[in-house]
Amino acid sequence: SIRVRFAPSPTGMFHVGGARSALFNWVMAEQSGGTLVLRIEDTDASRNSPEWTEGIIRALAWLGMDGGEYEGPYFQSANADRHRDAVRALIDQGRAYYCDCTRDDVVARTGDQHKGYDGFCRDRGLGPGPGRALRFRTPDEGQTTVVDLLRGKPVFENAVLEDFVIARADGSVTFLLANAVDDMSQGITHVVRGEEHLSNAPKQQLLWEALGGEPPVWAHVPVIVNEKRQKLSKRRDKVALEDYRAEGYLPEAMRNYLMLLGWAPAGDREIVPWDVVVEEFRIEDVNTSPAFFDVKKLRAINGEYVRALPAERFAAECRPFLDDAPFAYDPAVFDRLAELAQTRVAVLSEIVQMVDFAFLDEPVFDEQSWNKAMKEPAAEILAAAEDAYRDAPWEADELKTRLEAVGAARGLKLGKTQAPVRVAVTGRTVGLPLFESLEILGRERTLARIAAARA
Ligand code: GLU
Repeated sequence: SIRVRFAPSPTGMFHVGGARSALFNWVMAEQSGGTLVLRIEDTDASRNSPEWTEGIIRALAWLGMDGGEYEGPYFQSANADRHRDAVRALIDQGRAYYCDCTRDDVVARTGDQHKGYDGFCRDRGLGPGPGRALRFRTPDEGQTTVVDLLRGKPVFENAVLEDFVIARADGSVTFLLANAVDDMSQGITHVVRGEEHLSNAPKQQLLWEALGGEPPVWAHVPVIVNEKRQKLSKRRDKVALEDYRAEGYLPEAMRNYLMLLGWAPAGDREIVPWDVVVEEFRIEDVNTSPAFFDVKKLRAINGEYVRALPAERFAAECRPFLDDAPFAYDPAVFDRLAELAQTRVAVLSEIVQMVDFAFLDEPVFDEQSWNKAMKEPAAEILAAAEDAYRDAPWEADELKTRLEAVGAARGLKLGKTQAPVRVAVTGRTVGLPLFESLEILGRERTLARIAAARA
């Protein structure tokens, strides 16, 4: 049975690209009854921190992988002995040699900034020493063919593969070596990871072969780009999964959306619950063209999931956002508002702006809304509304009928008549259904706000 792994480096906020790789691997394990291994590649001591590792584990749990779903976490740093053994074995086989060339030396010889290593030290027979790195000797001829489930069988000419560094002068091993050795020793059968690692695959496959392993099957999933077709970057784009969580995206929606970054189910479906994903996903069907991270689509999908929540869970999911809001709220009142809000919220944090009017002493007036709604004949409408509401039965339908009559007497449609009342009471031109909101707010506060807006 298959063994896949997710092997993040804890060097920053866990981002959506990593999350997608984790999910692809997870589905593959799920659908085949195989195993997903979580391996934290924590060997870059200068860039790692336990905080990032915790962030990864927390984010995976949020997405539904709470530890029962994977084996591990293993830590690459704990495998140092294996890495050293592998390096030793390669030296003993004559597959590795010491090299004291600096980058500048190589550029001076090749005259090309971008060219790989030129093999200068291959046959100099250097022993270990300060300033000497260890390079893997790639074959001079032949080809390395990797089996990639998305890309067929890319062929790499061995002569073009440079002799790459496996251990630095300070003795630390490189990513290429540690990653391949760990995959081998952890019995990984399928390596599913980002396209940026495609060029590493032939080098790592050569390491597997040299170390006596049967290389894995590879799948390099497409890069993720923003609306300008630039590769997503943490400087430019919102990429941290935590940020989406904090904004009120639901994990099941996030999971659904992330699966669509490179994959699509048959038909025009965008809502693919996890059990359907597990049934239908095929890694072979993943595209190789860049996947556009479309925040609008993500929002829309989140909105679908939000609407589908049982009312109680919706209210419960909203509560943390209200707890952080700068006002105290009455849970019973909130439950009534939540019912109105559920179909209007795409991202949970939006709930705060939708209901704040009911809990604040005065609404937060949006200046643009105010200027737009308070034009003539707003003053007259507000005065008439105040009169019409003073002794009205306090019930949404009745409030609507009365305001309609206020408008009709002036030849105005309800939408026009509503606008100043809505802004007077809620501060904004858009929001929850107005008359239900007024019913919940109560006569006294509604009338006070209308009066205040007129003043
Ligand atoms: N630690 C590597 C990364 O995060 C792993 C690459 C791989 O999956 O092989 O890019």
